[in-house]
Amino acid sequence: DLMEFDLQIDGVDRGAITWGETIDDTVKAASPVVVIGAGMAGIQAGIRLSQAGLPFTVVEKNAGPGGTWWENRYPGARVDVASHQYCYSFEPAEHWSEYFCQHPELRAYFTRVFDKYGLRPHCRFETEVTGLEWDEAAARWRVNVRLGDGEDEVLEARFVISAVGSLNIPHLPDIEGMEDFAGPSFHSARWPEGFDHRGLRFALLGAGASGFQIAPTIAPEVEQLNVFQRTAQWVMPNPIYHSPVPAGESWAMRHLPFYGRWLRFVVTHLGVSAGPDTFRIDPEHVDPRNQSVNEVNAMVRDHLLDFMCEQLEGRPDLIERLTPDYPAWGKRILQDNGSWFQCLKRPNVELVRTRIERIVPEGILTADGKLYTADAICYATGFLHNEFLAFDALGRGGVSLHEQWGDTPTAFLGISVPNFPNLFLCYGPGTNLAHSAGLFFHAEFQTAHAMEGIRRVLSAGAKSIEVRRQVHDRYVDELVAEISTLVWAHPTIEHSHYKNSDGKVYTLSPWSLPRYWEITREVSPEDYRVE
Ligand code: NAP
Repeated sequence: DLMEFDLQIDGVDRGAITWGETIDDTVKAASPVVVIGAGMAGIQAGIRLSQAGLPFTVVEKNAGPGGTWWENRYPGARVDVASHQYCYSFEPAEHWSEYFCQHPELRAYFTRVFDKYGLRPHCRFETEVTGLEWDEAAARWRVNVRLGDGEDEVLEARFVISAVGSLNIPHLPDIEGMEDFAGPSFHSARWPEGFDHRGLRFALLGAGASGFQIAPTIAPEVEQLNVFQRTAQWVMPNPIYHSPVPAGESWAMRHLPFYGRWLRFVVTHLGVSAGPDTFRIDPEHVDPRNQSVNEVNAMVRDHLLDFMCEQLEGRPDLIERLTPDYPAWGKRILQDNGSWFQCLKRPNVELVRTRIERIVPEGILTADGKLYTADAICYATGFLHNEFLAFDALGRGGVSLHEQWGDTPTAFLGISVPNFPNLFLCYGPGTNLAHSAGLFFHAEFQTAHAMEGIRRVLSAGAKSIEVRRQVHDRYVDELVAEISTLVWAHPTIEHSHYKNSDGKVYTLSPWSLPRYWEITREVSPEDYRVE
């Protein structure tokens, strides 16, 4: 059912809003909505609001649309989800030049969709939301924003859809002496426009999904690249990771009926049909090294090790340092066509696994007393994944969302939070996907849920909609119990942005895509109080 919904073989957008005349125009006109963020989910929300005929404003802190793909411009930034799937179901993309395309093409895609659906007049760029306040008497949100010139303004909205993303508040490590470094240093998501790395002695701190893309891209152009990796990460072979889409296939996609849809089906179906079962910790599984969680997982481990050993033939030192000591898939898996492992074999590249002692003006000093001189440092050290909103929201009775959450952010379906009526989150707590790559699917489900919530309020002539506390609590208990049976919660994984300070995982979804679709499709009175 989900594939049929997604593929839209007849060209009809299954998720389009078709409220028709059911809601009076005067009601609509009096129901402004603010969408926070013009990234993947914010654009999706804008399209649906526009179809519903509601007045809306998209507030975006950046100067253009695309969210994470507006911000991440480091050399080598590309998707790790097949491009033909990494697009809206109703905006198929037959135009990708690579199977896993790079950031300029992604930015161009989002800009094209944004303009095609006429969102620009609704969008306020370089405007940052600094806080939300619920006005009980008026049943409206006051959205505090700061404009590019530093001026503050308040927008009023009956509903707020937060589409701020989840992996975008840069995490910088807390290493002594960072401010003493003499050269330029920056986070990977803040790679300076036009920064010339050629010929530099470059220090790359962190080798997760961002760092492992930067290293092979800049290695041939820098004088020396020192990659500081704290934990070895699992890498999956993907021979077409950097491959262009051949001209014949591009032609077929444009001109052969259903070819593009078929390709999307092929690259998507596995992720859609596979649930998290292959990632489940099997209590009966015996592994004396505690390095696998079930039989399939043990096989995957062997397969990944074989790939690595093949790539690093003749370099037992690298094999030893790059073999992870936790089960495969325990962190976001990396994909390699060989570029990452080959890069580490280059004479001008060194993989450093020794603990960093401190940063000094000349470079990086490790615990063994060695100084790695550097002209520039890039911190590819990830994001604050457990902090869902950079700003606070004050809900009913002035309750602070940050205080309510602390280090354990939770939301019913990842969308609705008790005490915060008429607020819907996209990519909220418990909705990141480590087991299948379907964040576009999630954005479509979440905005559909939000739109249905809004419709319920408007059609009932009501003021607000809020998830029932017991429903939220029951859902979170279920989610946490489920997650704790999966590989990402495995105790051998010491450092992971999925875990909070207590080592618990609240950010990931344990549900298969069809299951999440099922549970988000309805906005029921048992779950929500409409007032
Ligand atoms: P990440 O996966 O969290 O990796 C951060 C790296 O920095 C890790 O190697 C980490 O080591 C290291 N690190 C963090 N704090 C450190 C410290 N205090 N000292 C030393 N090392 C430290 O972050 P990311 O690479 O930016 O990726 C984050 C997420 O963004 C990914 O999981 C993925 O979902 C998404 N992403 C996707 C793509 C893509 O589509 N291709 C690209 C980039 C990012 P430890 O492993 O020891 O913590």
